Amino acid sequence: MSGVPGSAPSPDEVLREREADHFHDECGVFAVHGHPEAAHITYLGLYALQHRGQESAGIVSAHAGEHLVMRGMGLVADVFNEARLARLRGRHAVGHVRYSTAGESELRNAQPFCATTDSGPVALAHNGNLVNAARIRHELEGRGAIFSSTSDSEVIVHLLARSREATLEERLVDALSRVRGAYSLVMLTRDGVVAARDPHGFRPLSLGRLDGAFVVASETCALDLIGAEFERDLEPGEMVVLRRGRLRSLRPFPRPSRQSFCVFEHIYFARPDSKLERQSVYEFRKQLGRVLAREHPVEADLVVPVLDSGTCAALGYAEESGIPYETALIRNHYVRRTFIEPAQSIRLFGVKVKHNTVDAIVRGRRVVLVEDSIVRGTTLLKIVSMFRSAGAREVHVRVSSPPTIGPCHYGIDTPTREELIAHVRSVGEIREAIGADSLGYLSLEALRETAASLKHGICDACFSDEYPVPVGEDEGPPQLSLFRIVEQGDE
Ligand code: 5GP
Ligand code: SF4
Ligand code: MG
Repeated sequence: MSGVPGSAPSPDEVLREREADHFHDECGVFAVHGHPEAAHITYLGLYALQHRGQESAGIVSAHAGEHLVMRGMGLVADVFNEARLARLRGRHAVGHVRYSTAGESELRNAQPFCATTDSGPVALAHNGNLVNAARIRHELEGRGAIFSSTSDSEVIVHLLARSREATLEERLVDALSRVRGAYSLVMLTRDGVVAARDPHGFRPLSLGRLDGAFVVASETCALDLIGAEFERDLEPGEMVVLRRGRLRSLRPFPRPSRQSFCVFEHIYFARPDSKLERQSVYEFRKQLGRVLAREHPVEADLVVPVLDSGTCAALGYAEESGIPYETALIRNHYVRRTFIEPAQSIRLFGVKVKHNTVDAIVRGRRVVLVEDSIVRGTTLLKIVSMFRSAGAREVHVRVSSPPTIGPCHYGIDTPTREELIAHVRSVGEIREAIGADSLGYLSLEALRETAASLKHGICDACFSDEYPVPVGEDEGPPQLSLFRIVEQGDE
């Protein structure tokens, strides 16, 4: 912290401190326009997007000029049931799933955000992170605005409500022209849906058709589940207005010369059965694994994926190296966030509850563990040690992305720089810290070369420290101490 010790901090310093405390959301969004079962379809879409956020889920439908809202903490299946869905009537709906870091897992941040304007109700579901939200919020609060959440997405709703433009879509354009950073969003109005993507195109957003209705989804796997036809991806900087069964496309924002699609969506975040910008996630990950095998070969007996996210890269590594692929690590898919551990602690409990080794396959063998990324290094430390306990002769770790050296400011939940193991340690030191016999990361050059096949520009800032939208002093939304909703009944 800068400033003269002992003196009161300036308003700017206070703001910067608040901004340094930022958190980021990982989210999935979905929308339907013109379907008799809009909320039900949205529920299914969110089901397919559950990997993008497990903290809260929400659906808002438009019926008879009103918005019907249902939001709750937990998984989509926990929040909704048949009776509840039946109450969300209407032909248009938007939905959201959200994950955030633990401190901010509260209902008041659950989306879609709802507001009433003089042009009718609006509900907004946002994926991404705005880099100047704290500053705008500070300005608005100075002019008397009252915020009900700590999420950066609420800033858009406020800007929209205050805009003097005539129609809601013009107001949204006005609001979005003031924010910087990443957004793929869907907005429900009284009788339609607006979808928009930031000019850099950080986060995915796809458009599909279902029985004459329009659907919008963060990922194509959600279109697959509901049997919708993929139509196209929204373009960076594009806004699509869906009203009365018609689509109108606007390009209200100047576009940078090159796209900054989040390469980490391809590496880790998106589901492998999705296509991002028409490119198969599965195939890309597999290709990263092949390149990784060429960059960091090793003599070994088996290639083992760190499930689930390391699977495709491990397949590529095995294929390229000729070393047999074995799923010698098994994952329990029913693990919840908290467990009741016995008072007497169990060795490796924290990791064993989620993963276990197949000892018969591992004993006496030289193992290559393939992982998609190392963040804090805690997962691998435990897994390497588990393989040693299972009798592995050697444990080599290969990572299908470069060292994560910087935080994401555009909507992927990463810890602060200081908590990133690759920021504070060299590759040699990380190898030692996780206890592996060898450690090889994909190089940034190889990632960029492989990504060149994607036909769209990428953001790789967390690996390269080259941030396409400057974050500087007004990064991230502020974290404020506000009220806490302990319980909330049906709306
Ligand atoms: P670490 O244990 O090193 O902190 O975390 C690395 C593991 O977390 C890897 O298995 C990787 O697949 C996963 N991971 C990487 N980025 C993210 C993220 O943004 N969110 C979540 N939930 N997991 C992540
Ligand atoms: Fe994606 Fe990393 Fe860029 Fe964030 S910084 S958008 S995680 S590539
Ligand atoms: Mg993983």
